[in-house]
Amino acid sequence: MKVGVLGLQGDVREHLIALGSAGSTATIVKRPDELASVDAFVLPGGESTTIGKLLDRFELLQPLRERVRSGMPLYGTCAGMILMATDIAGREDAPHRLGVMDMAVRRNAYGRQVDSFEADLTVAGLDEPFRAVFIRAPAVERVGDDVEVLASCDDQPVLVRQGHMMASSFHPEMTGDARIHELFVAMAGS
Ligand code: GLN
Repeated sequence: MKVGVLGLQGDVREHLIALGSAGSTATIVKRPDELASVDAFVLPGGESTTIGKLLDRFELLQPLRERVRSGMPLYGTCAGMILMATDIAGREDAPHRLGVMDMAVRRNAYGRQVDSFEADLTVAGLDEPFRAVFIRAPAVERVGDDVEVLASCDDQPVLVRQGHMMASSFHPEMTGDARIHELFVAMAGS
């Protein structure tokens, strides 16, 4: 399976490595014709306002939304999760969103950059805890009936799935542990 990683901003290389370890062929996507050539897609973290603007400017926003709506598997981390949410809670909006996953998220809900933290998560489908890195992470404040919570931290969902879509408020690509990417690749291939 060929997985595209949006290459406009964020920790693109780390996602490519993790997806490779998870057994997929990963490639950077910056143009609509590159998007058309992949079977699944990853939206990395970064700054959601910037990534949204770039998606729009690079004419990827609408084609990506259409691909996902017609079933292409999508995984978004942190800012990527924000861009997937149908609703944004609080004062900080995220314009140019895909708005494909039924949930409400609040940007920067865990405080400022200095408040970034790590936690060991129990993840549905994994035998051992997963060390998760949170960096100015969004909080998931509501999930729709079709959204499954795969992991929580302090009673708040941090890894969620809705059909062919998965999103996490943490960065699984930063710890050299590819098990979350493996979950995504398995989900995308099933
Ligand atoms: N705080 C960022 C935002 O709101 C997300 C941070 C991240 O992706 N690590 O867009």
